[in-house]
Amino acid sequence: MLKIGCHLSSSKGYLAMGKDAAGIGANVFQFFTRNPRGGKAKEINEEDVKKFLTFTKEHGITDFLAHAPYTLNACAADERIREFARETFADDLQRLEYTPGSMYNFHPGSHVGQGVEKGIQYIADTLNSVMKPQQSTTVLLETMAGKGSEIGRSFEELQSIIEKVTLQEKLGICLDTCHIFDGGYDIVEHLDDVLMEFDQVIGLDRLKAIHLNDSMNTLGSHKDRHAKIGEGNIGKEALVRVINHPRLRNLPFYLETPNELPGYAAEIAMLKAAYKEE
Ligand code: FE
Ligand code: FE
Ligand code: ZN
Repeated sequence: MLKIGCHLSSSKGYLAMGKDAAGIGANVFQFFTRNPRGGKAKEINEEDVKKFLTFTKEHGITDFLAHAPYTLNACAADERIREFARETFADDLQRLEYTPGSMYNFHPGSHVGQGVEKGIQYIADTLNSVMKPQQSTTVLLETMAGKGSEIGRSFEELQSIIEKVTLQEKLGICLDTCHIFDGGYDIVEHLDDVLMEFDQVIGLDRLKAIHLNDSMNTLGSHKDRHAKIGEGNIGKEALVRVINHPRLRNLPFYLETPNELPGYAAEIAMLKAAYKEE
């Protein structure tokens, strides 16, 4: 069965997200842990989380993927911004223990002119200071398009971060189809080669989630603007090959396309129809 869902608003709490997911035919979903532009997270309502866990269990909704705020930059030049990243990260990981076994995805960060090597070291330092052996959450580094000084634009950069982290068994990768396409990986014409390269550099066993997006821009543009499935330069056919690929087909897929709930429901239905059951 295809694991497919999308990004949902968390503003009305956990149970509301579960119901939104069920309402659009999603069996997995992603949400922001707090305002994506930063700020304090809402107090956890234990009663709401309890109802959510019962509801999602009844409806077969799994693979909760939390997304860190965009303002989190673990490799900023300013120590106060790195400190904010550590505090937010640690607080999010603590809150995620209310939904055990979740995943937490973050953008590695932008080195803002300090250089890739220094950036990678800061990101690894952050992970080593916030990750704990007892956490049940898997932390995911997202593949980035490489706009500005973004780190994570190549599989090599992501692997260099992983190598410096102590708790590697709690670390994985979230592959964003729009980002890697904009980053120069040709998943339209050479999906097998790209996955082979991923396997050689990082290892496909690290791949835990896929952000399924089309791209408004072209291969190697380093832009990062998502398009609806079939309305961008990756195209529906190539994305259908992604969900059916033998090495990917059992992973959870999360749409981050420019849609409201009805648009997501339509994309989910279309992808379910295009998925070849074994
Ligand atoms: Fe992201
Ligand atoms: Fe993404
Ligand atoms: Zn993006």
